[in-house]
Amino acid sequence: MITDFSTKIENTKIDFSPKTIDTLQLNLTKMCNQACTHCHVDSSPRRREAMSRGLLERALALLEADTRVSTIDLTGGAPELHPDFKWFSSEVSRLRRRVIVRHNLTVTWDPHPLTGESMEYLPEFFREHRVEIVSSLPYYQEYFTDRQRGDGVFQKSIKSLQVLNQLGYGKLDTGLTLDLVYNPVGPFLPASQKSLENDYKRELKQKFDIEFSKLYAITNMPINRFAYQLKKLGSFEEYMEKLHGAFNLGAAESVMCRNMLSVGYDGRVFDCDFNQMLNMDFKKNEKPLTLFDIDFETFSKRKIQVANHCYGCTAGEGSSCGGSLI
Ligand code: SF4
Ligand code: SF4
Repeated sequence: MITDFSTKIENTKIDFSPKTIDTLQLNLTKMCNQACTHCHVDSSPRRREAMSRGLLERALALLEADTRVSTIDLTGGAPELHPDFKWFSSEVSRLRRRVIVRHNLTVTWDPHPLTGESMEYLPEFFREHRVEIVSSLPYYQEYFTDRQRGDGVFQKSIKSLQVLNQLGYGKLDTGLTLDLVYNPVGPFLPASQKSLENDYKRELKQKFDIEFSKLYAITNMPINRFAYQLKKLGSFEEYMEKLHGAFNLGAAESVMCRNMLSVGYDGRVFDCDFNQMLNMDFKKNEKPLTLFDIDFETFSKRKIQVANHCYGCTAGEGSSCGGSLI
């Protein structure tokens, strides 16, 4: 029997209020060149939802007015497929904020699903604007990566990593960050982030002469496509019990929603990407609040909205889009 997450937080008396908003995560589009089985965003090449130019301009205006947000985290889908991706990330760099792109490594080699445009300019564009790259690589072996992400994904990912290395990404003293993300293939908690990082570094160097900065080990969240798969296999309850049983106080105090705000392609604001996928938005008079309605000062005093999927962030070493929390 699982204790409701909000009750668990009350019982353990931990501080679950926002500390600040130092990261603004923007979901630029649901379009992706891939359609991975575990994708919590349900992205695919057929999705067309994308953030408007007006919302992007509003985000820039908020950054100019308030310096507390130091990092803009661009996600999707594949954020690079947004028509304003180049303009927006250049503007954010001009405002001297850190730009992180959740880059899936294969988008460089597939034509744009809508326009057919080549995306091969991306590695050089990233370097020019000193964009930080966070890329999912489910495993350092082809079989496991392709099983989760689709045939051919591993080889394309390796090619991207080699190109990024040639440009200085992932190399010591270049300041060009290339982080990788591991998530388990199936209903398991990830192994220790440090030991996985050692394995990845050794294997990728030996087999492909690839280097990277850090590895993040993240837990698969029991929502959307992954939850559907678990239910189909009859293992949803078992997985929830596993997450519940591995609840960790230290991880709970370090969850990413205490430092960030997440914005959907339609401008609605959320505590995190996961709440976004579950439509747990903020409302005033039953009307969803958007980026146009908020300021960072007021929103850093909000009450974080939780539900049982939050056990995915607090299990074991903890999990966030930045990997283990403790
Ligand atoms: S690459 Fe990322 S966004 Fe695209 S389908 Fe896979 S998990 Fe989803
Ligand atoms: S799912 Fe979101 S709201 Fe829940 S703990 Fe994780 S980051 Fe916070």
